[in-house]
Amino acid sequence: MERDYRAHVLIFPYPTQGHINPTLQFAKRLVSKGLKATLATTIFIHKSTQIEPGCVNGRARCDELGFAEAGSTEAYLERLEAVGSRTLAELIDRLAQSGHPVNCLVPLDVTTVTLPVMPALEIPDIPSFCSDIGSYPAYLQLVLDQFKNVESADWVPFNSFDKLEEQMVKWMEERCKAIAIGPTLPSMFLDKRVEGDENYSINLYKPDKVGYMKWLDTKAVGSVVYISFGSMAELTEKQMEELALGIKGCNKYYLWVVRETEKKKLPAKSIEDMEDKGIIVTWSKQIEVLAHEAVGCFVTHSGWNSTMEALCLGVPMVCVPQWTDQPTNAKFVADVWGVGVRARVDDKGCVRREEIGFCIREVMEGEKSEEIKRNAKKWKAFAKEALEEGGSSDKNIEKFVASFVKP
Ligand code: UDP
Repeated sequence: MERDYRAHVLIFPYPTQGHINPTLQFAKRLVSKGLKATLATTIFIHKSTQIEPGCVNGRARCDELGFAEAGSTEAYLERLEAVGSRTLAELIDRLAQSGHPVNCLVPLDVTTVTLPVMPALEIPDIPSFCSDIGSYPAYLQLVLDQFKNVESADWVPFNSFDKLEEQMVKWMEERCKAIAIGPTLPSMFLDKRVEGDENYSINLYKPDKVGYMKWLDTKAVGSVVYISFGSMAELTEKQMEELALGIKGCNKYYLWVVRETEKKKLPAKSIEDMEDKGIIVTWSKQIEVLAHEAVGCFVTHSGWNSTMEALCLGVPMVCVPQWTDQPTNAKFVADVWGVGVRARVDDKGCVRREEIGFCIREVMEGEKSEEIKRNAKKWKAFAKEALEEGGSSDKNIEKFVASFVKP
């Protein structure tokens, strides 16, 4: 047996069409630079593509893993999970015995994405403009364009604060003149240092005239669920119905923002039955609502502004992300900052009534609620501290200002 002394990279791509060719090209490139590469795929892929096991394609060897084709995608993935690691180990042994020991294994598995200074992201945690590129090419381009010349910008201010994203801030500082200047909530809700801040907001929509703030005044501390999906998200009629029934089912007081254009999707009968427990408005003064002590839970689409507002005002969240960066924000809320939970979706991407009810209870009174409330208080204090005199964001804003003052 002749021993091959080149370093041998075994590449195991996710076994679907979209991953086979890119990894094959990668394997070929490694071979062209002097390594030995083997691309391992499944029997199913071998059969469908009619590549012979052990064949050499562009001098990258293709080999198979010993598990068979299954009827549905689910069954196929189940089988892959059940026998994949065993057959992969067998293949590695086989290659070693044939004089080609493997030095490196590259499993290109897109179920988890690992990026510097970020928690591991599963597919549902990735911004939709990356995980579903086909549907949002313009958004992805917009984001990419924003970062094009980032190294040459004099300043890159971003709406966060050092403690909230400590490692991310450091990582960015090494690459550009990033400064965290947030949270960018009106000063009157945080440090009260900016004069004339009472006229704090510019609204695309007119706040509803219904007296919801007075109504909140009549409710006990932490007893009301506030629900809002921001200015753009459009829910399906089914999602709207599940949401209504979920809110109704948990029997709590609620204040629900349903924009004028979304109102027609409300399930009329269910809404009539739940009118005694709450109010539906077309737009609210959200920050004032979140700052009200009666509000104990925010069911949110996890837009960045809504997330920051709730975090800075200490309101626990139930995240129902819809698109763009919202899934990633929800991941941080639930798993990094611990200030809420993320609702699970069914196979059609809809959050069912039972799940809505479960999550609301979990945040307000369930097992995790004490810890979530403790964390919410902690982050509220840190947010305030960042903007107070000498706080991290306050100092950053001063640095920014000083750069314009000529000596
Ligand atoms: N907002 C509001 N009243 C509402 C609903 C939302 O003032 O009834 C504000 C909210 O406070 C936040 C913004 O609208 O500042 C929504 O921004 P976000 O990034 O959360 O979501 P988007 O609208 O961009 O999806």
